[in-house]
Amino acid sequence: MKFASRLVQFDAAPGDRFRPTATPIYQTATFEQEHADQFGDYDYSRSGNPTRTVLQEQVASLEGGTRAFAFASGMAAITAVARTLRTGDEILADSDLYGGTCRLFTSVLERSGIHASYADASDLASFAAKITPRTRLTFLESPTNPLLRVVDLRALAALAHDHNALLVVDNSLMSPYLQLPLSLGADIVVHSATKFLGGHADVMGGMVVVRDAKLAEDIYFLQNAEGNALAPFDCFLLLRGLKTLKLRVDAQQRNALAVAEFLAADPRIARVFYPGLKSDPGYARQHQQASGAGSVLSFTARSTAAARAVAERATMFQISVSFGSMHSTISLPGYMSHASVPPEIAASRQLPPALVIISVGIEDADDLIAGLDQALSQSISTPTGCGLATPLAEDR
Ligand code: PLP
Repeated sequence: MKFASRLVQFDAAPGDRFRPTATPIYQTATFEQEHADQFGDYDYSRSGNPTRTVLQEQVASLEGGTRAFAFASGMAAITAVARTLRTGDEILADSDLYGGTCRLFTSVLERSGIHASYADASDLASFAAKITPRTRLTFLESPTNPLLRVVDLRALAALAHDHNALLVVDNSLMSPYLQLPLSLGADIVVHSATKFLGGHADVMGGMVVVRDAKLAEDIYFLQNAEGNALAPFDCFLLLRGLKTLKLRVDAQQRNALAVAEFLAADPRIARVFYPGLKSDPGYARQHQQASGAGSVLSFTARSTAAARAVAERATMFQISVSFGSMHSTISLPGYMSHASVPPEIAASRQLPPALVIISVGIEDADDLIAGLDQALSQSISTPTGCGLATPLAEDR
C-alpha cells in the first residue's frame, strides 16, 4: 500500500470483539489477570496499553522501523534515548538544534556525567573532527531548527557507524511522510509528536522508533521503568491526527512554498531559509533524501525591531512556539523556542537576532501572504530601538 492508504488502512483495534473502526481509548490503569502467576497481554498501563500499542505499531510501520514507543512529550522521548547512555559516554549533536534538546543535553545530562558537544553537521569534516572514542550518540535534525540547514543523513550515519556510535535523527520537522531517516542509515528516529504527527496543537507526545531488537528492548525497559509513556487518551488523539498527515502536509507545503517565494522576492526581507526554494543551498540534498521541504521556514528581517513587528502584526499567524499544526504560527526563535539554550552555547551558535520562524498552516495562501505583506509594511515604519533587549519568554 502507498503511504496515503497506510495512514488509514490498519487494524484499529486488534482483538477487540466489537470490531470498532476507530481505536478505543482503553482508559484503564489495570487489567485483570486470569491467574496470580500469569500475566495476560496487558497487566498495567504503565507497562502496556492497547491504545498505545496501536499507535506505536502504526508509527513503527510508517517510519520503517520494527518498534516504536510513545512518550509523554518529545522531550520525554529524547530523554529515553539519552538514558541508554552511561556516565562517561558522550553525545555529539548538530549545533543547530531545538533549544530544549540542547538544554537537556547540556544542563541535565551533565549532572550524570554524560557530556555533549556540538558541531555543524552540514560540514562533515568539522563534525567528524569532534567525534571522540567516547562518542556513543550523534544527534541531529534535518532540516535543522531554526536555520533549515539540510545535512547529509547517509554520510552522517556512515560516519557514526565508523566510530561505533549511533545516529539519532529528530524527524519532527519532516514526519515520515516526507523523510525516512531509518532507510538512510539512522539507528533511531525521535519525534515531537506534538508537531506534525498530531497536527492540531491539541496534544503533547513523543515517539522513539528503532529497527534493532536489542535497542528496542532497552527503550521499552526505560519506558516501563521510568513511567513516562503516553496516556491512552493522548494516544487516541495522535492516532486520529495521524490519519490526515498526508492531506495536511501536502496543503501546508504548497502554502509554504507560496509564502517562501513571496518573502524571497521581497526587499523588506534580508534572507529566507527554506530548502523548498531552488535558490536555497540545501535544495538538491533535501530533494535527494526527502520527498518535500515541509512547511516550516525562517527568514531574517532587516532589524530586530522589524522582526518583532512582523511577528506581532502578521494577521493569520499566531505568535506561538511549536510548529506543524494546521494553523499558521510565527515566532522569534532567539527569544522563544531557543531561549533555553545555555548561554555559553547560544554565544557560539550566533542565531541571527532578527530571525523569524513560521510554520505554515492549511489556510488560504493568499490570506497568509496578505497578512505578512501588511505586517511588513507596518514593520518598516517601526522605529529602531524597539528591538528586543531581553528574552520575551524563557525556558519554553
Ligand atoms: N524536537 C524538536 C525539533 C522540537 O521543535 C521540539 C519542541 O518544540 C521538541 C523536539 C520537543 O518536543 P515536545 O515539545 O513535544 O517535548
